[in-house]
Amino acid sequence: MNKPKRYLITSALPYANGPKHLGHLAGAYLPADIYVRYLRAKKEDVVYVCGSDEHGAAITIQAIKENTTPRAIVDKYHALLKSNMADLGISFDIYHRTSELIHHQTALEFFTALNDKGDLIQKETEQFYDEEAKSFLADRYIVGTCPVCGNENAYGDQCEKCGTSLSPDQLINPRSTLSGKPPSKKSTTHWFLPLDKHEGFLREWILNQHKDDWKANVLGQCKSWMDLGLQPRAVTRDLDWGVPLPANVEGGKGKVLYVWFDAPIGYISATRQWAIDNNKDWKPYWHDKDTKLVHFIGKDNIVFHAIIFPVMLKLHGNILPDNVPSNEFMNLEGDKMSTSRGWSIEMDDYINDFVKKENGGDMMVDALRYYLTQIAPETKDSEFTWRGFQDAVNSELVSIFGNYVNRTFVLMHKLCKGKVPPLHETLLDDADKKIFVDILETKYKIESLLETYKFRDALYEVIDLARKGNKYMQDKQPWILAKTLDANPDNQKLIDNCLHICLQLTANLAVLINPFLPFTSKKMCYMHKVVDKMLDWENAGKPKLLSVGYSLRAPELLFRKIEDEEVKQQVEKLNNKKMAMENAALKPADEKDAVIAPVKSQIQFDDFSKIDLKVATIISATKVEKADKLLKLEVDLGFEKRTIVSGIAMHFAPEEIVGKQVVVVANLAPRKMRGIESNGMILMAEDKSGKLHFVSPQTMIDAGSNVS
Ligand SMILES: [Zn+2]
Repeated sequence: MNKPKRYLITSALPYANGPKHLGHLAGAYLPADIYVRYLRAKKEDVVYVCGSDEHGAAITIQAIKENTTPRAIVDKYHALLKSNMADLGISFDIYHRTSELIHHQTALEFFTALNDKGDLIQKETEQFYDEEAKSFLADRYIVGTCPVCGNENAYGDQCEKCGTSLSPDQLINPRSTLSGKPPSKKSTTHWFLPLDKHEGFLREWILNQHKDDWKANVLGQCKSWMDLGLQPRAVTRDLDWGVPLPANVEGGKGKVLYVWFDAPIGYISATRQWAIDNNKDWKPYWHDKDTKLVHFIGKDNIVFHAIIFPVMLKLHGNILPDNVPSNEFMNLEGDKMSTSRGWSIEMDDYINDFVKKENGGDMMVDALRYYLTQIAPETKDSEFTWRGFQDAVNSELVSIFGNYVNRTFVLMHKLCKGKVPPLHETLLDDADKKIFVDILETKYKIESLLETYKFRDALYEVIDLARKGNKYMQDKQPWILAKTLDANPDNQKLIDNCLHICLQLTANLAVLINPFLPFTSKKMCYMHKVVDKMLDWENAGKPKLLSVGYSLRAPELLFRKIEDEEVKQQVEKLNNKKMAMENAALKPADEKDAVIAPVKSQIQFDDFSKIDLKVATIISATKVEKADKLLKLEVDLGFEKRTIVSGIAMHFAPEEIVGKQVVVVANLAPRKMRGIESNGMILMAEDKSGKLHFVSPQTMIDAGSNVS
């Protein structure tokens, strides 16, 4: 397309049914954020929208699992996802939600427009039905024995134990999760989007018009979908959670829009809400041909964004996406990442372990952004390992980038009085001039890579420029020149030239790294004593970003090393989490649904007042040898520290509970367990799945506080 007048960038809407992991972050959010930050630095008109996908069976199922309402589920996870994304520097212009009224209105207008034009068809189909609960059953509402691994609690769409994708017909002894009875089949009428009618358009648009600019994995998946034959796709379903069909649509009672239909319309409703909030007009972003629309997604979303949603947009008279950059999957330590199997690192975990725990947690956000971009699964699946994370941070961010910036600042303070030294043009040699050429060339390379969605290669170019800076400084050795300054006073001019050039390079690095590592750039601006405006992209490549004689601040630590111990702890935590999940999944169903224990016989207040309950903080936790269930805890009771042995090892990894506050029975007689004297007992609540939870104050309070 010609140079766009404006950009609308979207990231796939995450389901608000649970925390999201680092694979999600690397797939659809981080690359989009890098792209958007680059466009903003170029002063383009750009809006970046996203939000929580709050409809569909994934939500209602989670509500059943957590024994609560769908509304409570989406409220909880929307808040979590929104804050996780913000903590990791994902700079949405709006993070909306599909349960908002404006979304329901937008989605219904869309449906009605297509329905009125005759673009949708109605068909009668057979669906699974629960006679007793009088309800149609989504695939997830049917469980049975997995034909592959024999797991008795496999879902109608997937077995969570072996990962196999299933359909309810494949389950042995299927039963409804609502009544426990075998489901029957019942006919129902639904609206369908006849994709088959649009195959000609899709083939021309995707496989011809975009054959050169769309990624090979996207083109390949689209082609194989079309070669399999496109089918009409149901737009509505029988469910009570979602966007209900309008009352005036005949036969629409009790039906909601199918979540795949309403979710992408969420991009439009989010844009509308953003426009209201910012007093702008949303329409050009979805109707003007000069708008460049780009959907960032993971590969499980290709068909929705490259085939189905474009058909909807075309029928509705909207612009079509210019590109649908999709990433492959990111695996984890040799296996597929999966939250349900416990083999994942949630964004929230990383934030708690690395970002919130330390001062300067921002540098750990950038460390993560660096590694995830460096291993981005742009063309094939890639793998996250904690060892790889450590290597990338220690040997590239710390040793190359951080080291270069730090050395430049230290030497400038030592040899140039803390100021930008002058440039003595007549003394410039080829190596000096080459650096300016390198800076400019790197800028152009990064631009062309970012504009073709090659984030990994673009980031490599920034680090490579820092590497060139290191080499240049190493060759020039200004610290050696300084040693013979008395005998050769002219050496100061050579020192000036070297550090002048090194400083112009650090300033340029701040501009170039900004889309990738925004917190680092901000810190570099502070060190250079310049305002963030220096980060405007037009400044990239300029040889005179800093004025001669300008005094600069002392260097600050940009990154820190990742220790072996941290790697070990994280790998251990991952293994423990997986084991805990497996144990929970293997428990028989009747044990999970244990009835609530009856209330014990009455006691007098005096009986109760004998128990001394106090708040304690866990200081350390270690496994007890040869005892699977026991953890040895050191707790702080304010007035003293104590050892307590607790049977919670199957439920908590030692490192995840350190720092947590608990309630302790402080006057319980000591008891020896596995040779260790336990002085007290920790109060635990057991949920109906058998999982234990700490009983804790809502916020941190003084250790030793009384509980009564
Ligand atoms: Zn299975």
